[in-house]
Amino acid sequence: MTLMFNGIGVSKGFAIGEAYVLHRNQVDVTARKLTKKQIPAECRRLRKAIKVAKAELLTARDNIPKDAPSDISAFIETHILMLDDGLLSDTPVDIIKAEQCNAEAALQQQREALAKVFGSMDDEYLATRIDDVNHVIDAVLRVLDNGEVVTPAENWKGQIVIADDLTPADTVLMQHNGAAGFVTETGGQLSHTAILARSLGIPAMVGVHNIRQYVKSGETLTLDGKRGLLLAEPSDNMLKELRKQKKAFKQQQRDLNKLIDKPAITQDGVELNLFANIEIEEDLKALKRVNAAGVGLYRTEFLYLNRDALPTEQEHFKDYTKVLRSLKGAMLTIRTADLGADKDFSPNHITTSGPLAHNPAMGLRGIRVCLNEPALFETQLRAILRASARGPLQILLPMLTTVAEVKQALAIIDSVKQSLTEEGIEFDPNVAVGGMVEVPAVAIAADQFAQHLDFLSIGTNDLIQYTLAIDRIDDQVNYLYDPLHPAVLQLIKHTIDAGQQAGIPVTLCGDMASDTRFVRVLLGLGLSEFSMPPNSLLAVKHSLINARRVRVRKFCMALMKTSDAKEQESLLERINRE
Ligand code: PEP
Ligand code: MG
Repeated sequence: MTLMFNGIGVSKGFAIGEAYVLHRNQVDVTARKLTKKQIPAECRRLRKAIKVAKAELLTARDNIPKDAPSDISAFIETHILMLDDGLLSDTPVDIIKAEQCNAEAALQQQREALAKVFGSMDDEYLATRIDDVNHVIDAVLRVLDNGEVVTPAENWKGQIVIADDLTPADTVLMQHNGAAGFVTETGGQLSHTAILARSLGIPAMVGVHNIRQYVKSGETLTLDGKRGLLLAEPSDNMLKELRKQKKAFKQQQRDLNKLIDKPAITQDGVELNLFANIEIEEDLKALKRVNAAGVGLYRTEFLYLNRDALPTEQEHFKDYTKVLRSLKGAMLTIRTADLGADKDFSPNHITTSGPLAHNPAMGLRGIRVCLNEPALFETQLRAILRASARGPLQILLPMLTTVAEVKQALAIIDSVKQSLTEEGIEFDPNVAVGGMVEVPAVAIAADQFAQHLDFLSIGTNDLIQYTLAIDRIDDQVNYLYDPLHPAVLQLIKHTIDAGQQAGIPVTLCGDMASDTRFVRVLLGLGLSEFSMPPNSLLAVKHSLINARRVRVRKFCMALMKTSDAKEQESLLERINRE
């Protein structure tokens, strides 16, 4: 009988293979009372287990394939550092001494304490870091249990690995040993395992609770990593269908690769700029693979996450110059820190809206944080301006609401330029400054913002959230998230028109620019600059260069005026038909 499982598809692609179910021993963590005399030996036992677990990680790090993305070793490095951290190496030893208990129970107690700390964090990214703590503690527990870490990597060739969770080290070894895909019981879109799967291009899905109870090793599985769909023991017809889809997907990738060097120009001669959004280093490699025109959005808030202290000016500078070197003269759009809301970062002295705010998305975020914390803003601006002497870049201000904010930000940029001049530090005095259009008020008054800015960039992820009053990360209201809502389309069109009238470029860098269902709609509304995750760029290019703006425009104008779902669907079908 065929069983069907839905989960979170985190890495697109199809896999067909036998299941390899990874049943790692659940180590008994029950507390045992020790005598005073037994305590030194128990402490030594724990320290030795930590050493063995660390040696295993060092081996994994040394075996990372040379062509693997550089952030993979960074993940493994994080785990090595965690094992060295006092919270994992010293505190459990202190617990053994204080409670006179066994090493397993001490580790478990510390795991629970850390889970509480991580669990109380509002930031989804930081909250998922408890996964790393769990990986590391589990590795030590397994050593305590077996005396060694068991990684049966040799069994993974051509198989779909089913696990409770996978460490970054497991994921690297899995790819190295030819696993066809993987499914885990826990994890989310932002977990390291998911990020790695995408970077490595392995089809994967996560969050399939209790999957190991239903699937046995050796059973035939099919995995659709985009939809998050797993079939166990599929029928012959289902297998045939999936093989067809897999073949079509591969062929599609090959066809898209042929577009890499084709000029980005529509059938009726509209010249397009297709830029990439970047966040992590791996995106730069992907950007080159698809020959993007440059970077339309560098989300720098990722430099601030997963650490205790603010990044220094030198850290910013080093990062930006590295990106510029890699871009070899293509434009880099650096968005100043968009902290707050779902990208919350709260070291002791910074108070963003944080967990206590009722509406963090409407609280202190983006430019509001920067203007509230001038030192944080100036540090980043100094680094950006210094980097501007090394290559073409422009500054993008996030989450604007008022023209007064623009003026204030521009005044701070001027004063930073003044200080750099006085210090004799080189920078490009003509660095362009643009603003994100994410708040409906900015879209409506875009003409006024355009008078003070060198370019506009529409952030539809937030623009849709704020226009339709739905939290973009709340599953319960996700059904209302509609890029085709006439209000959204009208705001986009209004912004594009305002930019054109003011003679400044308008880019769109929200998810809508990477979705092939919508890019021709944007083209019809007058957009020529799109910025998106690099791995979507060729599919978007394919859709746009085969379109004619003159042909789609009238359907787009009609789309902007209708709320009727059927009519919307038929118009969208017309727009995307050719
Ligand atoms: C957006 O809001 O569309 C955008 C690009 O910014 P972010 O997704 O980083 O909020
Ligand atoms: Mg945004």
